Amino acid sequence: MFIKEKTKAKNKKINFKYNFFNSKTFFKNQNALYHIYDFNQKFLFLETYFYLISCLSALFCYNLRKIFRTQMTRLSDKEALYLLQHESLHNLGKMASAKKLELHPKKITTFIVDRNINYTNVCWVDCKFCAFYRHAKEDDAYILSFEEIGKKIEELMDIGGTQILFQGGVHPRLKIEWYEDLVSWISKRYPSVTIHGFSAIEIDYIARLSKISIKEVLRRLRDKGLSSIPGAGAEILSDKVRDVIAPKKLDVSKWLEVHREAHLLGIKSTATMMFGTVETDEDIIEHLRHVRDLQDETGGFRAFIAWSFQGSNTKLMQEQPQITKTSSNRYLRILAIARLYLDNVVNVQSSWVTQGSYIGQLALKFGANDLGSTMMEENVVAAAGAKNSMNQAQMVELIKDVGEHPAKRDTAYNILERF
Ligand code: SF4
Repeated sequence: MFIKEKTKAKNKKINFKYNFFNSKTFFKNQNALYHIYDFNQKFLFLETYFYLISCLSALFCYNLRKIFRTQMTRLSDKEALYLLQHESLHNLGKMASAKKLELHPKKITTFIVDRNINYTNVCWVDCKFCAFYRHAKEDDAYILSFEEIGKKIEELMDIGGTQILFQGGVHPRLKIEWYEDLVSWISKRYPSVTIHGFSAIEIDYIARLSKISIKEVLRRLRDKGLSSIPGAGAEILSDKVRDVIAPKKLDVSKWLEVHREAHLLGIKSTATMMFGTVETDEDIIEHLRHVRDLQDETGGFRAFIAWSFQGSNTKLMQEQPQITKTSSNRYLRILAIARLYLDNVVNVQSSWVTQGSYIGQLALKFGANDLGSTMMEENVVAAAGAKNSMNQAQMVELIKDVGEHPAKRDTAYNILERF
């Protein structure tokens, strides 16, 4: 029985060997191997295919994530409006401070020692919010002589000042040659002083009166020593608002054109906003959008400065008596929104001149990283009732008091001295 079983098993083995190698079965098995090989090949191909697809997908997702992240961090108009209207003051301060820290991680808060020089108060533009201007025939209308301007600059230099903020009135008769002579005289006589001057409305009017282009005015003044231009005259960049508060002033597209041309010629500028008249929240967001869009295009704005309308002695207050004084809460909310929305403008100034030193200091907790100027002389908002003043020592103290590092800067935001 045992022998029988053993023989059976032996035969089975032999049969298997035979079967496997007999021609028919062999080829059948060879085919099977080819199939396996073929399948492996296909599998390898599929594996490579899917690997490449997953690499491409990963790359695509990475870029998508990057784009999405940029879009996510950039505040949309709707989001900005929502935050302005509904977010708590506390949270706005926290968000603006986080954005400020991202842009200024060393916690350095700057200021500049400069002087406003209003070379003339003669102006034909008649902005209803302005209490500074005079018509040419009025008793207290003036144009400063070069010598008077020189004296003011020397006083500034005596206290270590580095910049003059030079602005008029828009005088109806001063042409490009007068401005060229003035800028050239200052820059030759006081080469260490930076001329930050002439707002968009002045530049535009000089061009029209002199029958040359805006670009030509800017180029000629730059060649004589003009360093940068202030954002004054922006008020609210919404034609609907401008038609009410300053109907003769240049419109939004012209203000943007002047700054665009300046940036393209290498003249940096600042962007400003004066709010608190008849604008809506939507107008404020429109203003910020114009600034952000132009900054995306040229990168020429060094800073953003917002201040509130000062109504004393103005025609606008007589015509629109319903306008109330902007609260500190409103100022701080708008400042925080500006810091969050203008992600491409590095510096945001506090407007202690209109808000007073206490709110000016608090503004550092709402996105501002610069206290602006020590304002040796200020005439424009002073004429409308804002008469705050601060010296360098007070600024240093205010900055230290909020745990930041004070530093004196120049026009280009280079640090000159730390305290
Ligand atoms: S704000 Fe300027 S442009 Fe307007 S009236 Fe006053 S000085 Fe003239």
